[in-house]
Amino acid sequence: MIAQQTIQQILSRIDIIEIIGGFVKLKKRGANYMGLCPFHNEKSPSFTVSPAKEIYKCFGCGRSGNSIGFLMEHEKYSYVEALRWLAAKYNVEIEEKEASPEVRLQQQVADSLYIINGFAQRYFADILFNNEQGQDIGLSYLRERGFRDEILHKFQVGYCLEQRDAFAREALAAQYNPEYLQRSGLVVLRDEKLLDNYRGRIIFPVHNQSGKTIGFGARIIKSNDRAPKYINTPENELYVKSRILYGSYFARQAIDKHDECLLVEGYTDVLSLHQAGIENVVASGGTSLTVDQLRLIKKYTNHLTIIYDGDSAGIKAALRGLDMALEESLDVKLVLIPDREDPDSYVRKVGAAAFRDFVDTHKKDFILFQLEVSLKDAANDTSKKAAVVNQVAETIARINKAEDFTKQQDYIRQCAELLRIEEAGLHTLVNKFIRERIAKQENRSRNAEPADLSAEQTSQQAIPEDDETLNLLHKDEQQERGMVRSLLEFGNKIWDEHGSVADFLLAEFSDTDMIDNKQLVRILEAYRTLYAEGAEPGVKDFLYHEDPVLSALVVAIMDVNYEISHNWKEHFEGRLPTREDLYKEEVQSTLNYLKLRKIKRMMAVNQKDLENPHTSEEQLMLIRTHQHLKNLERELLHHLGTVIVK
Ligand code: ZN
Repeated sequence: MIAQQTIQQILSRIDIIEIIGGFVKLKKRGANYMGLCPFHNEKSPSFTVSPAKEIYKCFGCGRSGNSIGFLMEHEKYSYVEALRWLAAKYNVEIEEKEASPEVRLQQQVADSLYIINGFAQRYFADILFNNEQGQDIGLSYLRERGFRDEILHKFQVGYCLEQRDAFAREALAAQYNPEYLQRSGLVVLRDEKLLDNYRGRIIFPVHNQSGKTIGFGARIIKSNDRAPKYINTPENELYVKSRILYGSYFARQAIDKHDECLLVEGYTDVLSLHQAGIENVVASGGTSLTVDQLRLIKKYTNHLTIIYDGDSAGIKAALRGLDMALEESLDVKLVLIPDREDPDSYVRKVGAAAFRDFVDTHKKDFILFQLEVSLKDAANDTSKKAAVVNQVAETIARINKAEDFTKQQDYIRQCAELLRIEEAGLHTLVNKFIRERIAKQENRSRNAEPADLSAEQTSQQAIPEDDETLNLLHKDEQQERGMVRSLLEFGNKIWDEHGSVADFLLAEFSDTDMIDNKQLVRILEAYRTLYAEGAEPGVKDFLYHEDPVLSALVVAIMDVNYEISHNWKEHFEGRLPTREDLYKEEVQSTLNYLKLRKIKRMMAVNQKDLENPHTSEEQLMLIRTHQHLKNLERELLHHLGTVIVK
């Protein structure tokens, strides 16, 4: 782990214009820099970088972040990799931090497993190419299936001898720890002896994003065997099945280039397609896709094309995970390979060009495909058909409406047609599912799980117009964000003779629950702690916060176009007042607007309560409360210069 001190050193040298300018051609426009967005295709620049705020925002695709976020997004680095890249760029020497004993132990195990896996990978590859049995059985089998040596070398394919413990003996002789050897899944303990687990099998190493071996898939050669076709590494410190996409290390650049990820079932499909020059391909192992896998794909592209053989049992499994793909805003297509072929055999038969052509012309939309399959299943059964309608509506409801509004409308139209039902009816049903989901999410983000749902995600959800309370909640958040922004930007400035803006605002928020958004509350509390320790916290302390949820939120609440540009100012006689000059007004009015919102909400709740039956005493209380709130509202409106807020 990198020491905090080193991180601070790196952060202090960051020049966002220099960093992003290394990847994107930037032009100065006022106080900001603009360029063509590297994350989406555009002809006129909407990608904005603010050197003052150290953030970038694209007004076309909505991506935003700080320098580290940019490197993570653009170069697909992890947080630590981005820091190391910056350290190298700015010649900062990296000091490693002492980790906790648990973390250290886990790292130790992981390191040992990497070393063992590397050793095993080289051993098996050596057997395949240089051992007599390896050549006669393993290599000849692979060559018969049409694999050329260079592709086997590239994917580091190997062979495990058909002997009890050939590998185990080799590994023990090389002094590898027996316990870790078992943990790696390469050997098993039988009668106190370590035996090879992958005897007589072809070995496919599985690589992580930086090309290190994290596990293996071992394929049987003899087809009459009753043993399983594949044995995979058991879950351990390195091998976490739900996060693995086989081949992703070799596919990264091609996926980026083609802006499409092809997904197939097996290891050999990946190898065959690579050999044919189709490199933007990964394999899932035939199980349903997990959220982690979908996010991994989304790091590179929004377009996922699933290629399965027509009668594969894997199709249904693959479809199962795909509702989640919609929530991740992935565009999913499906291609079925005809005539009992699989991608591996089909690309061999027709060649790369025809294969690509086939994929391009036979892409089916996954929602429509799913609907066709279910409709065929339901046939004339009306109750089954009703279930299909519900299922389709729920699927469509998962499309992120804020981002893909027209897509959702398109689906409703096409599905209504296929189902032979009224479009309006399906529309209503879809909206019902959306409302239910938002209500559930609101509940979750209000009650618990602060880390799971970032404020950004919640606020991007469409808010149904007929739901008054949700509407109010949503608008409150804008005020809350404004409040926290004021604190971060102006906290260290003087408020009055008693203290700073931070003193004033922190007191205002001391014992009320004025802020609903749990993430914003976390920023507020973190600020309070830093401030109490005597620090002068600023935007940057949170912009580069170690918790990515907080840092993303801070980026989101900063507005790059807020500043009046310096050039602009020079053209005027005298000086225009800037936000800096007017900070007191901004702080006060932001606070008042927030209070006003809360009062309006309390009044709405009170009003609703009044509609219920009450004793006369309760009735009187409620009316008094209403009057009290009304007075407060009037007072605030007066301060705000009688601006009427909607
Ligand atoms: Zn963009």
